[in-house]
Amino acid sequence: MSEQNATLNAFPIFVKTDGKRVTIIGGGGEAFAKARLLAQSSARLLVIAEVIDPAFAKWGADHGIDFLRVPYHRDLLAGSVLVFAATGDLATDRRVAQDARALSIPVNVVDRPELCDFYTPAIVNRAPVAVAIGTEGTGPVLAQQIRARIDQMLSPALGRLATLAAHYREAVELRVPRGAARRRFWSSFFGGRIARSVENGALQDAALEVEKLLRDHEPVEPVGHVALVGAGPGAQDLLTLRAQRLLMEADVIVHDALVPESVVSVGRRDADRINAGKRKGCHSKSQEEINELLVSLAREGKRVVRLKCGDPMVFGRVGEELAALREAGIPHEIVPGITAACAAAADFRLPLTLRGVASSMVFTTGHDLKGNSLPDWARLAIEGATVAVYMGRSTAADVSERLAAAGLSPDTAVAVVENASLPNSRLFHGTLADLPALAGFDDLTGPVLTIIGDAVAGASFENSEPLARRRALASAMGEEAAA
Ligand code: SAH
Repeated sequence: MSEQNATLNAFPIFVKTDGKRVTIIGGGGEAFAKARLLAQSSARLLVIAEVIDPAFAKWGADHGIDFLRVPYHRDLLAGSVLVFAATGDLATDRRVAQDARALSIPVNVVDRPELCDFYTPAIVNRAPVAVAIGTEGTGPVLAQQIRARIDQMLSPALGRLATLAAHYREAVELRVPRGAARRRFWSSFFGGRIARSVENGALQDAALEVEKLLRDHEPVEPVGHVALVGAGPGAQDLLTLRAQRLLMEADVIVHDALVPESVVSVGRRDADRINAGKRKGCHSKSQEEINELLVSLAREGKRVVRLKCGDPMVFGRVGEELAALREAGIPHEIVPGITAACAAAADFRLPLTLRGVASSMVFTTGHDLKGNSLPDWARLAIEGATVAVYMGRSTAADVSERLAAAGLSPDTAVAVVENASLPNSRLFHGTLADLPALAGFDDLTGPVLTIIGDAVAGASFENSEPLARRRALASAMGEEAAA
């Protein structure tokens, strides 16, 4: 899965070649390889070279390929939709590229990415389904490895299934209402018994299943569904498989601001996306508005994914949304996610429980430390529990002072992670006494999680910066600025 939003310098498309002329210049091994790739399509292949490798010529004769044994000339390119230069001679290849371009025909020059208008992908062929893998010329071997993996994943019968789908398209358009119902139809078509029957070669069974599915999908009252889904700490590949599937099936994704774009974009491109999030200063929906939104979307028959960072049940205000759904009688489910504390612990290689040291855990925001009486969890901390503080930047000073006053040693180890699980994560470590400095780190703009307790001493501090040094630096800079 991709990190953040990477930019492609070559955008993949599929070029229609049925009955069209595609021309390869060259008669050697490179040209042969291209011809073999292109012969997977229904293009009319023309190979132009004075000398044709005998094996190539024999294979070409078997595959209905036209050979023209003449010297290259630009006029020969006219009428082609694509041109491949594979003569092995750079000067000629360059001339072919220029000529093709002058005729507005996209050209590919073997092993010369700088001369190419397009790259040829590695292909997994399940016609009419094709997976094309490109690396912008950076790694043909990598492309082949990926190809092999995808090839293994996809059933050999996939093409037959897609052809069957094309056969039923018209009937589906007539009988299944467009929108959510139709998407549901196709998702059962490709995902369930029909696919399995086609795979087993039981085409008659498949046809019966399709008829049944068509009947089931005839207009009925739409019933929506809401999934409260944990998006995990931010890294796309820390989504669960179930979260991924629900995202891909969703008609609408209602997400919090903390969920990165790369995770939201796992959903279908044409799914509606609604940012319900609260992020410093921006307008955001009230909890009430979100509850109403979820209910009304579901009543329209939509499949809704309510995407929350981490685990939805941990400081996710999910209680209110659940109550609203229950009251409205909307079918719903909950999909757990990796909570920030676990991601932060992983980044620090920090065991949250440690035999003989810490055998319980507290998830807190520290907000309940502001009152007069000490919350129960403070006592747990003193008895050795590991404490994970969510949303804890503003309460850092309170947490530190109150816990120390309650008897927790100021030397107790502390680990702080910003943007846990993401490439831009930052790690800090120190003691309970260092913790108040956190509020002053103005450059901590990502979500921050703090872990306190003796178990922290078991962490790896290799990639982490001491809080104390950070604070000294910040105050030195402050003094300098004042001077
Ligand atoms: N449901 C979420 C928590 C929501 S409260 C979960 O289970 O993780 C929001 C707080 O979560 C943030 O203030 C921060 O303390 C924490 N958080 C979420 N993602 C984080 C991340 N990638 N790194 C560090 N902290 C994170």
